[in-house]
Amino acid sequence: MDPHRLRNLLHPDLLHARLEQEGRPRTTLSFYRYVRLEEVEDLRHALYAEWEALGVLGRVYLAAEGINAQVSLPTENLDRFRSALDARPEFRAVPWKIAVEDDGRSFLKLIIKVKKKIVADGLADDAFDVTNVGEHLDAATFNQKMKEGALVIDMRNNYECAIGHFEGAYLPKADTFRGAIEEVREMLHGRQEQEVLLYCTGGIRCEKASAYLKHHGHTHVGQLHGGIIDYARQVKAQGLKSKYLGQNFVFDERLAERITDDVVGTCMQCGAACDRISNCHEATCNMLLVQCPACAEKYADCCSPSCREIHQLPMEAQRAWRKGRSTRSTKTKAINDPEGLRRRIREEEELLALNGTLHPELKPDEWSIANGEWENALPPIHH
Ligand SMILES: [Zn+2]
Ligand SMILES: [Zn+2]
Repeated sequence: MDPHRLRNLLHPDLLHARLEQEGRPRTTLSFYRYVRLEEVEDLRHALYAEWEALGVLGRVYLAAEGINAQVSLPTENLDRFRSALDARPEFRAVPWKIAVEDDGRSFLKLIIKVKKKIVADGLADDAFDVTNVGEHLDAATFNQKMKEGALVIDMRNNYECAIGHFEGAYLPKADTFRGAIEEVREMLHGRQEQEVLLYCTGGIRCEKASAYLKHHGHTHVGQLHGGIIDYARQVKAQGLKSKYLGQNFVFDERLAERITDDVVGTCMQCGAACDRISNCHEATCNMLLVQCPACAEKYADCCSPSCREIHQLPMEAQRAWRKGRSTRSTKTKAINDPEGLRRRIREEEELLALNGTLHPELKPDEWSIANGEWENALPPIHH
């Protein structure tokens, strides 16, 4: 078949309408597996044809190292989809997670992309066996091993750890996966036999991290199966004590979901105990930070006096100022150095007291909002 035909080129409105019309209940689910795949391009085309026939929509990444899929399909086809997966040795019995709170409208089309990696990890070392992972542990076993003195290691980014983590866990300072895993290797240098327990949000990052550590000679590597998300579920269902404290950082609008009432973080601006995470409201910054309600008010939901000044300008002025500047679409860049942020805030407050502005380039005297002359009044931006 012509591979170019294995693609959905319809307009989003049409796709929406088609989904509405379909009227069949859909189920959303996700699964991943690190497994050596051959002839990935061919496999991609075959899967596309097979899954499209079952009404599967969603986003799927295929790579030589495995598959990572988030899909929705008509509920009546779930069994056939299961059989289709099980018919392929590489995907046989792959565990899938069914999304609970979901209306089945999460995807409009089926996209299957061939990628270098199924999760971007930044690791240059491709030589290790990604399928040789650590021991998968359920919540009860994880708790038990913690009690017996195993070393718990957080494999998430530093900002995710800032509002919640396992009791006594090692929290890498690096802000990338690659940086964190190298930091962990260094920290464990000469302690190859030490029992370590890895965890992350949903479990997938630990697959890679555990395989990497085993590749580097670590013999006792365990990992939290299903990540913090499933740990929280198991703890609730089985009435266990949660050794995860505080909030779990999530990658949607909520930013965090509470697991326990413990407050493990500190406000990055004033140092008060706090686990309220938010984005700087100045659109050209948008950095994630832990910010207490008092500081949120003081800095108008911004990270610094400098961002606050822009954020508090009239809308037209903000728009004019942003022209030619990029607004960050990412919600996952965080303040890495709270110490540095506090220093910057002090310096900016001093300047502000001295000059009345941190943005002398804005020349407030020349503004003429009433006449709509904002843009003319502003100096050109040099790149
Ligand atoms: Zn504060
Ligand atoms: Zn900011």
